[in-house]
Amino acid sequence: MPAIADIETYCVAPRWILVRLRTDDGAEGWGEAIVPKRRAAVRGAIDDLTRALTGADADRIEEAVQRCRKDGFFRGGPVLATATAAIEQALWDRKARALGVPVHEMLGGRVRDRVKTYAWIAGDRPDDVVAGAKARLAQGFTVVKMNATAEFDLIETAGAVDSVVARVAALRDAFGTDLEVALDFHGRVARPMVRPLLRELEQYRLLWVEEPVAPGHDELLRDICRGGLSTRIATGERLTSRWEFRTLLTEGVVDVLQPDVSLTGLFELEKICRMAECFDVAVVPHNPNGPVSLAASLQVASCAVNIPLHEQSLGIHYNSARAGATAEMTDYLADPAPLTPADGHLAVPTGPGLGIDVSLPEVLRRRTEDLPADPDWRLPDGRPTEW
Ligand SMILES: [Mg+2]
Repeated sequence: MPAIADIETYCVAPRWILVRLRTDDGAEGWGEAIVPKRRAAVRGAIDDLTRALTGADADRIEEAVQRCRKDGFFRGGPVLATATAAIEQALWDRKARALGVPVHEMLGGRVRDRVKTYAWIAGDRPDDVVAGAKARLAQGFTVVKMNATAEFDLIETAGAVDSVVARVAALRDAFGTDLEVALDFHGRVARPMVRPLLRELEQYRLLWVEEPVAPGHDELLRDICRGGLSTRIATGERLTSRWEFRTLLTEGVVDVLQPDVSLTGLFELEKICRMAECFDVAVVPHNPNGPVSLAASLQVASCAVNIPLHEQSLGIHYNSARAGATAEMTDYLADPAPLTPADGHLAVPTGPGLGIDVSLPEVLRRRTEDLPADPDWRLPDGRPTEW
């Protein structure tokens, strides 16, 4: 039996937390955690789980995950979830490599040849949306996502609503239906402003509106959508398990689920996709993350029919302007090809494990404890607000 021997955590530019798991037979696998602003807590959680799992059979992935979830008595939360997910991805990577197959071969096999992806434009405080979209179209993407707004108060002016609408209108005017646009409210919009915005935006037939309310307020969606709004609602990037997604599905107001493989884990993401099939709901995996997270998520996208589109982070604002230390996913790969989009698509991975080879020398070279912090936003009068 290959026993788990060691799990090491590496924080690297621009904001990624990579995990390398080794077994006593000398094999290894890679995973990726998120929540960089809480990286010390994430690293601590990974260290706690490592103590529990050292010596365990690395082939028994589900058993390891069940232990991570249950053996601390207290459950849940993004820190424990992402620590567990990173270790789980690494266990799948190691096991599939040992068998010489991509992970998706162990989850039913591929159902497609490539995965359509979308790209971010316009940054944290959206601006220059037409220029951003033009650049993405030139790269081959036909779907973009942008933030609806920067800081947004509980009640805003008609002018603030007009600014949001004007950015969307500018894209429709410039590109017609050659460009599909998803709009991320990012949990920045509170209930009093959601309906006014959705009403004004409906005419532009957005691909979806994302996180129209902040986490914890999803029960408001049924009320907000009453009256026949046709705009698709997407959410779920901060949820961690089937139990949390179950409520969204049974409520029946969400059209697009956005689980993040670095919160749910790889196999749990697959299970969420199968569960969403029963509700005729699309899954568009959230992934503004680094290379290992994207590779893990693509393994699920390869074998799930209800994933029409996938996020990826090449050129995202997180990777450059705010981060200080610029880096892209492909910087950490021995061969960038598996995560290099062509015509706005990523190929189904064919290599063993997660389908990428992480460059350990590059990880060591760019290792840093000085990851830039996510912003700490305030409203003009000084109140803390959602970023
Ligand atoms: Mg989002």
